[in-house]
Amino acid sequence: MTVAVVLFTSDLRLHDHPPLRAALAAADEVVPLFVRDPGVHAAGFDAPNRRAFLAGCLADLDTSLRRRGGRLVVRTGPVVREVCAVAAECGASEVHMAAGVTGYAQRREEGLHDGLGERGVALRVHDAVITAVAPGAVTPAGSDHYAVFTPYFRRWSRERMRETSPAPRTVRVPDAVHSEPLPSRGGLSGIAPELPAGGETPGRERFSRWAREDLSGYEDSHDDLAADATSRLSPYLHFGALSPVELVQRARAHGGPGADAFVRQLCWRDFHHQVLAAHPEASVQDYRTRHDRWRAEDEAAEDVAAWREGRTGYPVVDAAMRQLRHEGWMHNRARLLVASFLTKTLYVDWRIGARHFLDLLVDGDIVNNQLNWQWVAGTGTDTRPHRVLNPVVQGKRFDPRGAYVRRWVPELRDVANTRIHETWGLPERERAQLDYPEPLIDLADGLARFKHARGRD
Ligand code: FAD
Repeated sequence: MTVAVVLFTSDLRLHDHPPLRAALAAADEVVPLFVRDPGVHAAGFDAPNRRAFLAGCLADLDTSLRRRGGRLVVRTGPVVREVCAVAAECGASEVHMAAGVTGYAQRREEGLHDGLGERGVALRVHDAVITAVAPGAVTPAGSDHYAVFTPYFRRWSRERMRETSPAPRTVRVPDAVHSEPLPSRGGLSGIAPELPAGGETPGRERFSRWAREDLSGYEDSHDDLAADATSRLSPYLHFGALSPVELVQRARAHGGPGADAFVRQLCWRDFHHQVLAAHPEASVQDYRTRHDRWRAEDEAAEDVAAWREGRTGYPVVDAAMRQLRHEGWMHNRARLLVASFLTKTLYVDWRIGARHFLDLLVDGDIVNNQLNWQWVAGTGTDTRPHRVLNPVVQGKRFDPRGAYVRRWVPELRDVANTRIHETWGLPERERAQLDYPEPLIDLADGLARFKHARGRD
């Protein structure tokens, strides 16, 4: 009887799962393993919203495996130690897993390679499980990654992706391998009231429904804050409950400008992955320094608190920050403008904003979060690093009737459309009646400080 272990990490699904498929082809029995590594906790990556969503993903994975005759094995401890222990317990000759890109994932892979190697167990690492195209699979001449999105997208679009595979029919798990109870979301505090349910099953249902109803219109609607018509698949992609290859292929099969625009967004995800895989230090350091002398938390404590709490006096910024707290998620256009407001208008270090996002986002992801923050701060891959988004102009453009603002800032429920994005323009008497702050900063002052800091005044 041959046995293989499949280590699940950011790929919590059964459909289109190359490591599981390969393990099932290579061995009579397979141990589907998830390790709760205290290293992830110590690094602050398991914020409550993600822990709750993860619990849903693991429960769903276990249920799907049980329907196929198997079960999920969960262990807690340093990942290398636990994987080696499970491999020894079941006499596995191979461990299969998806390739990761972060510094943590790279260290994990090296540790497993060494630890398993010493015990004569082979580690098989599979590409293009977490991304649609593996980092490093497409590179420009003379470099290990693309630093600009558009040429990457052109090249990525021509790449032949593998055929997707269905979920296996049967998974036989050796009886002798014990599992700890699955983690539950009960007892967790600080969870956003409107957190979605985690798991491959709800993720697949969400995609099918969204593709039927909203994919065709995505090109026109994806920036409309009030319409809320984007897929909201990011947490499912973050935990790998959905396969990016499958999403690209299903969107392409659907066809049309909406599907093209959606595939382009999925490519942004791969783009950031290949940047971070080449430069793992970009999770904490400027990818391209602009010699900023950012304001640190202690210099800007009141501004940062107002930003975090959604009381900057700029309605669209406040709406977005309150959405984040309530849902553990924020619309992409809103993420762009609150990040621009913090880094450029308030001139606060992008790492402070990125940390707050990571504390709350259910899709919070070292790759996409840090590199999008850097993109907005102008220290990343944006080809126009000094552009500043004006929250009033952005609000009028992407929430013209103020419906997004009214949804999240009920104090402004009765303000007329014409004034909803600039409440300071209201007559004195009306303004005095609103329980809403004056603007934290004059936009012109913020712009002048930023231009000066970047040597562009
Ligand atoms: P859709 O518009 O439906 O797009 C489909 C998918 O494409 C998304 O689910 C996502 O996986 C991917 N995608 C879309 N835009 C981007 C992008 N700019 N970069 C990378 N992937 C993208 N995304 C995260 O997944 N995790 C994060 O921690 C994260 N932090 C961000 C921080 C900032 C400051 C900014 C500006 C963006 C951030 N994003 C992050 C990217 C983007 O905002 C979210 O992926 C998107 O809003 C998720 O909503 P959706 O699933 O409805 O997206």
